[in-house]
Formats: sequence, structure tokens, C-alpha cells
Amino acid sequence: MSIWTVAGRQEIGFVCGTRQRALLARRRGESNLVYRSGQWFLYATVDVSEPPLQDVADYLGVDLGIVNIATDSDGRVYSGGQVNGLRHRHRRLGKRLQAKDTRSARRLLRARRRKEQRFGTHVNHTLSKRLVAEAQGTDRGIALEDLGGIRGRVAARRPQRATLHCWAFNQLRQHIAYKARLAGVPVVYVDPRNTSRTCPACGLVDTRNRASQAKFQCVSCGLLGLADTIAARNIRIRGRGVGNASTRRGAVSRSEAPSGKCRPL
Ligand SMILES: [Zn+2]
Repeated sequence: MSIWTVAGRQEIGFVCGTRQRALLARRRGESNLVYRSGQWFLYATVDVSEPPLQDVADYLGVDLGIVNIATDSDGRVYSGGQVNGLRHRHRRLGKRLQAKDTRSARRLLRARRRKEQRFGTHVNHTLSKRLVAEAQGTDRGIALEDLGGIRGRVAARRPQRATLHCWAFNQLRQHIAYKARLAGVPVVYVDPRNTSRTCPACGLVDTRNRASQAKFQCVSCGLLGLADTIAARNIRIRGRGVGNASTRRGAVSRSEAPSGKCRPL
């Protein structure tokens, strides 16, 4: 790269991966030079072409949570055990380090936090890639809960959500949205109310359907299942409604706005 310095224009080498190198062919505008943790990074903006959206008649419903990071309407459960375990370990260590309020303790704490975020980002990339591939391979779109402006109700449904790292949750939603766009997979956002209290078989909405935090049992028809899977199935059903009701393009082109849900740390 070539940058202006106080000593004039200088040519400086850089390294990047193969994919990044390919993307650089479509670089747009200026790049930013960023100094972070003793290393210099070059942030470049690139143009990426989007394929036309697939025409879909059905959706893969995806419920996002904490214990199970994601659960889809086909019954697949993506557990957060590993990520959450790492978080707890770091939190404990963090408490000890915070008690020792020294410069080296603070530095170590920052490094830990970054490591945790890198791992979370890796998990989110892997997970979103799998979900998008699953939807694409079965000619379906993806349906997610619309979390704009309904924070209170959703938080109430799952008290453990308060402990979630908001940035990880929002990042996963954004990863799904952008990978879906790159793959031509439509994403719709559905009304999240009562997704875990509604019976996907008979339609009964009742708090008693939620037998426990993890279990769903319909008090009317007896349908039994994991609460998260049931929620994902309801999200799928609502996704079909959203996909049919609005003009398809209108439904999917609405940009994702997760900021109403929670602020990144
Ligand atoms: Zn039922």
C-alpha cells in the first residue's frame, strides 16, 4: 500500500488471505489504517455483487437463544455450551483480575475479552454459514424474530437472555443476514410474540403450554417438544405468512435493525 506520512509518501507491504486478496480487486474509496493491540490493520471497503433473491415458498425458522445459540424448525439444535463455558471461565478470571486493579491486570483483562470475542465471532461465522447453506440447499428462505422495539416482552420470555453478550447475539443476526444476501437467500422477520407459547399444530396460545424452560406441551392437543424447536416452528409458520403477505422483495429488503434489542458492549 501507499500512504502519506510526515516523511512523505511511503510504500508499505501488507499481508492478507486469499479471499481478502480476491475481494480487494473491487475495493472502493479510501481505506483506513487502524492501530490495535500493537498491530496495524488496513480496513478496506469493497463492492460485492449480490445474486438475485431465490423465489421461495417456505422458510427455515430459526430461534436464537443462549443455552442453545440457535435452534431451527427442522429440529437441529446448535448448542452454546462451549461458548458459554468459555465466557464463564473468563468472567471468573475477570473478577479476580478486576480485584487486582493494576496495569498488567487491566491489560490481561482486555486481551481476554478480545480472545472471547474472537471465539464468539468464529462461532457466529460457522453457525450462520451452516444455517444459510441449509436454507439454500432446501430452496427455503430464513425466518427470524423481529426484535425491533419489543425488547421488554422478549426479554421477559427468557430471563437468561439478560446474561447474553448482546454483541454476540446481534452479530449472529447480522452474519445470517449478510451471508443470506450473498447467497440469494431471502430473510424475513416475524412477530416474536408468543412464539414459545403457541402450539404449531393446533394454534392454541397458552402460557401453560410452556411446561418448563426447556419443554413445551400443548394443553389442548398434547403436542410435545423442545421449547426452542417449537418456537422455531412457529417462526417458520409466521415466515410463510410474511413471505406471502408482502410483496416478496418488500419483505426481505427491509434492513436488519437490531439496535432496538440491546446495545453492543
Ligand atoms: Zn396443540
